[in-house]
Order: sequence, then structure tokens, then C-alpha cells
Amino acid sequence: MNNEQGAMRQERFPPSAFSLPPLVLSRARIKSFLACPRQFQLRLLERRPWPRRPLSADQEARLAKGQAFHQIVQRYFARLDTAVPPHDADVNRWWQAFQRCPPPIPAGDGVRLLPEMSLTILVPGFDGRILLTGRFDLLAVSDTAAHIFDWKTGRPRPLSDLRHDWQTRLYLALLAEGGQAVRQVVPPKQITITYWYAAAPDAPRTIAYAAAEHSRTLADLQAIAAQIEALTGRAEWPLTDDLTHCGSCPFQVICGRVSALAASDEPVEWEPEPVAAQLEPELPQ
Ligand code: SF4
Repeated sequence: MNNEQGAMRQERFPPSAFSLPPLVLSRARIKSFLACPRQFQLRLLERRPWPRRPLSADQEARLAKGQAFHQIVQRYFARLDTAVPPHDADVNRWWQAFQRCPPPIPAGDGVRLLPEMSLTILVPGFDGRILLTGRFDLLAVSDTAAHIFDWKTGRPRPLSDLRHDWQTRLYLALLAEGGQAVRQVVPPKQITITYWYAAAPDAPRTIAYAAAEHSRTLADLQAIAAQIEALTGRAEWPLTDDLTHCGSCPFQVICGRVSALAASDEPVEWEPEPVAAQLEPELPQ
């Protein structure tokens, strides 16, 4: 290749167009940005070391049990062996509750059950620069409906809280926008999400979706993406005003917030995330 050809190639395909990988937003990353843009910048854009926050023995045990329960349910829907570790009374109790009071999973010849399914889509209007991703514990899909299921081993939350949680909003939007991965098209009115709590197995929380709600969620996601892009290039993104976020943040020294409120000792809950977007398990809200 002579110099002239090299110059032409550079002009037609500027290196910057290929050098920046897309930014992947999960529900945990969205929550991180909304809680503190500076934390999002330090951790996800500058890749500062994020030492895992020390957990109490009780929290560690809770996490391990939650993970074990999710794996058992995943194996169940994958038609694999579901032997429960006999020494773990909590996991056994949750699994028995699941079998005794299962969530309202659709049945029939036309229903496909897809455990631990990940879905990634583009944020509309951002030319592939920002993606959205999520992983469903179970997706039940037929020609007329698509139902997301999520298993919880923590404290049950009211429907009104769950309806506004970013997990609910993101997962519903992912399926409405990316439904082609499982079916030709999935209109919002055919989509629902159900949270099944091991502590309240006979009271699953089901939330329906609708076109108007989808438009609002997409607009909010685009606004978040626009805020992130507007901050890109700034040396220091805004610090949160809420010191409770700083109490469990390892960047306190960088931010001069070492006297922030101490971290909560709430029990943690196992919350699987797509590999490309993993953060620590979250504290139940
Ligand atoms: S210490 Fe507080 S202000 Fe600093 S990154 Fe963490 S949460 Fe944000």
C-alpha cells in the first residue's frame, strides 16, 4: 500500500470510529450512574480498582445461598438434576416453597421456556455507541405473550416499589425492543414480568407492560444515555449529594468523603447480571 492509498483509507475510516467500544448499560450500571455519576466514571470508564466491599459472614452466607437457589431453578428449567445440598436448610426450604407454590408459568405446546436468557439491544438514536443489557431468570414466550420471571430470596417488596425499579423498567423495555431474538415481534401489551419471592411464594408480584409505559421508559433511557455522553470528556463527573451512597463506596479517599456514613449491614441478595456488565450483588431496597 503506497502513501496515497494509506491516506485515503484513513480519511474514509477515521480510527476513532472503530477504537471506542460501545458502553454497555445494565440495571446495576444505570443505578450506579443515577446514584453517583462520579462513581460510574471512576469505576466503569476509568477502570479504577474496585475492591469488593467487605461483607459480614451473614451477608456472605446469604449471597451463596441465593446463588445456589438460582442455580437449582435454572437446572430445573433446563431439565437437569436438581439435587439440593442437604446441609443447607434455607436453600431446601426455598426450593420446597418453589415446588409447592410455583410462579404462574404458562404451559402448553406453544410455550417455550428459556432459563437465564440474556438480551442486549442498542439505545435508539445513539448509533451503537450505548447498549442496554439484562439477563432474565426465565423467559416464557408463546405466539401471544412473553413473560419474564425473576426469583428473589430477599425481603419481599411491594408491587408499587417494583413497578418503578430499574430492573422492571429495563427488562420490560429490553424485551419490547429486542423481542426479535425470541419471536418476530413482541408488542409491549403482550409483555409481563413476575417477581417470585421465596419468603412469599403464594404472592407473586406481576406487572403488565403497555405502549405508553414503553415510550416513557425509552425516553428516560435515552435521557440517561445523553447525560452520560454530555459528561464524557469532563475531568471529574458530579459527586452525589447523598452520603449514604459513599458509605459503601471504595472511592471515599479519592472524593474526600472518608467520614461518610457507614455502610449498611442489610442482608445482600444474589442478583445475576450478564457477564459483560457485572457489578457486585446489590443490597435489597
Ligand atoms: S465516595 Fe461518594 S461521591 Fe465519591 S464516587 Fe463514591 S459514592 Fe460517589
